[in-house]
Amino acid sequence: MAAEALAAEAVASRLARQEEDIRWLWAEVHRLRDEQLTAPDRCQAEGPCLTREVAQLRAENRELRHRLYRLRLCLEEELSHQARLEGAERAEAGRGAAGAQPPPSQSPEEDVRKEIEPDNEVKKPPNFMKERLKLFEILKKDHQLLLAIYEKKEDSSDVITVRVADGRTVKGEAWKTTPYQVAAEISQELAETTVVAKVNGELWDLDRPLEGDATVELLTFEDEEAQAVYWHSSAHVLGEALELHYGGLLCCSPPGDGGFHYDVYVEDRAVSSAELPVLESLCQAIIKEQQPFERLEVSTEVLLDLFKYNKFKCRILKEKVDTPTTTVYRCGPLVELCKGPHIRHTGNIKIIKIFKNSLAYWEDNPEMEMLQRVYGVSFPDEQRMAAWEELQEEARARDHRTIGKEQELFFFHDLSPGSCFFLPRGAFIYNTLIDFIREQHHQRNFTEVLSPNMYSCKLWEASGHWQHYSENMFTFDIDKDTFALKPMNCPGHCLMFAHRPRSWREMPIRLADFGVLHRNEPSGALSGLTRVRRFQQDDAHIFCTVGQIEEEIKGCLQFLQSVYSTFGFSFQLNLSTRPENFLGEIELWDEAEKQLRNSLMEFGKPWKINPGDGAFYGPKIDIEIKDALGRYHQCATIQLDFQLPIRFNLTYVSKDGDDKKNPVIIHQAILGSVERMIAILLENYGGKWPFWLSPCQVMVIPVGPTCEKYALQISSDFFEEGFMADVDLDHGCTLNNKIRNAQLAQYNFIFVVGEKEETNNAVNVRTRDNKIHGEISVTSAINKLKNLKQSRTLNAEEEF
Ligand SMILES: [Zn+2]
Ligand SMILES: [Zn+2]
Repeated sequence: MAAEALAAEAVASRLARQEEDIRWLWAEVHRLRDEQLTAPDRCQAEGPCLTREVAQLRAENRELRHRLYRLRLCLEEELSHQARLEGAERAEAGRGAAGAQPPPSQSPEEDVRKEIEPDNEVKKPPNFMKERLKLFEILKKDHQLLLAIYEKKEDSSDVITVRVADGRTVKGEAWKTTPYQVAAEISQELAETTVVAKVNGELWDLDRPLEGDATVELLTFEDEEAQAVYWHSSAHVLGEALELHYGGLLCCSPPGDGGFHYDVYVEDRAVSSAELPVLESLCQAIIKEQQPFERLEVSTEVLLDLFKYNKFKCRILKEKVDTPTTTVYRCGPLVELCKGPHIRHTGNIKIIKIFKNSLAYWEDNPEMEMLQRVYGVSFPDEQRMAAWEELQEEARARDHRTIGKEQELFFFHDLSPGSCFFLPRGAFIYNTLIDFIREQHHQRNFTEVLSPNMYSCKLWEASGHWQHYSENMFTFDIDKDTFALKPMNCPGHCLMFAHRPRSWREMPIRLADFGVLHRNEPSGALSGLTRVRRFQQDDAHIFCTVGQIEEEIKGCLQFLQSVYSTFGFSFQLNLSTRPENFLGEIELWDEAEKQLRNSLMEFGKPWKINPGDGAFYGPKIDIEIKDALGRYHQCATIQLDFQLPIRFNLTYVSKDGDDKKNPVIIHQAILGSVERMIAILLENYGGKWPFWLSPCQVMVIPVGPTCEKYALQISSDFFEEGFMADVDLDHGCTLNNKIRNAQLAQYNFIFVVGEKEETNNAVNVRTRDNKIHGEISVTSAINKLKNLKQSRTLNAEEEF
């Protein structure tokens, strides 16, 4: 017998022994698990507690599975080598014989080929796909074998109780019953519209068997978490299409904002937007095939082998995965490293659109590989897609970069990328916003300070920015010392707190600062006013005692309520609590979180909790505002900080004479970056600024040349009263055209003046929406406009 066959035989017998070992281990694991489950004092909260012995056995089991996988792989190779040899021998022998037929059976590789070729796009798939699929199938067989052994062992089925979120209960079988079956038992329609399940609070594939008693929620597309799963699954479809079309290396598809995108590395070319329709029809073919998503849990070592063709996946495995096993999902020919969960099969995606591509970098780092990013969106029905398309159209029309140019608000120049030039009208909006907040600060007992723009790196070392943030700071040398432009105001405010001894009597100290900040954003990330290098914030820091947190947070919440309702924004509140890597005393965290909860309760608006999502230095309240297009933006910050006072050794003398008390810092910003807020407001209003913020408040139009002098006089009267007033003296334009132009330019009020108005010292008022208020005396018009400006109403044109 040939040496290969001997080796294969040896491998097969080792394999048999290994399988025996696994069988024993598996049985042992379950015996121990049952013992554990029936133990009277088992702790409910942690689910089935596993003894150290089981954990050890599980680890061994994993080890064995890995060995088994390697052995099967060797065996497979040996056997196919053997088959090739035998085939060659047969061919050799048959060469002499007449009418010899080619070998009738297809190789497994050819099967793979056939499966991955969509009907319309016949391309040669990259080699790694075949290899990868073969390994996946081997792993799957092992997995099924283990399940089969378990089932054989457990003759009497393990009955479990499944509580569905609506209150009813269903009986099922452990490791068999799936959430999909649970849904189907209630109604087939429910089963078909459910996107994903939530089992005991954890998102769960609909076809993944339940492992014990469970509470199951069935989430449809209306649910935000289900939407994320739906779009994430659609990203796999796009990934599959990208691999088939470009043969590139898939990198990752981080969750997007309404839709999905995939980053792919294609060495020798770029994705062209002309290819998007091809990708879209590939996606449609994949959807038509209703490819199931199959989940497998595999050891990291095996995965490194499975993804050896892809350096990016290997990086993720080596740098990001710290568990001994992780999951992969197969969908058609695509096998992806992924935590899941997913929809059941690609056929659940009813309509998909691949609409945009751009460049990206691995980990957003321009020093790393350049990647091609392709964007898509998908929906379970046509109506939702139509609504989405309408929204995109609307968002394009409202893009702040376009309107900013049309209204002559601001521009950017290559000679200072990421730093905006605000023209007079833009500067008016900017300053009006700051004045608004300044007035609010004053009402709420914040005092404004001015602090330096550049500091020695010693300050940044003390604050920790040097260690964690230096690559985002602009640094330069002065007198042998390294300096940096401030990316935030907090460390400077700490120096202000520390410059003299502090007593409990003066707490809380609330410092506000509109100082200019600089952050070194990569040039590829700069985008209009939403991502800039130079900006100002309505930044404030409250230094208070632990006991004052509740009251101060209540103040912050009322502050943001008052500002956001003025803008017409609704908002959502989330409390982010202690993360695993927290610093400081746990009692302090508990106390602070209790007070944050109390402030939120008293504030009275609904809020949610994000457990473990706080910063390592303190809990925070996340605020998301919703704009006119239903998009969410995070602008405000309400963040507690226990660490900065310690780093700067900030102390105050407490009521009982303790002079070593650390204050707590609350970082507060309501607008956040003024630049970014202008972009959000501009897009929210679509350029139709409310009167108080409008850089085009009044346009005066004379009916003819004889009234020009009066028109000029009126314009300057209103300007002197503090309004943005202009006059249109263009002789080449008819009166009606002038009115129309002023309306298109979004002048809130248009004053038409003729001889009659001049005689009466009056103006004839109409609005940008062509509401005609008629003749009114100048004094009365000035008073009305002053009141409208002061009230910051969103509806001045109607209320006039
Ligand atoms: Zn996935
Ligand atoms: Zn701060």
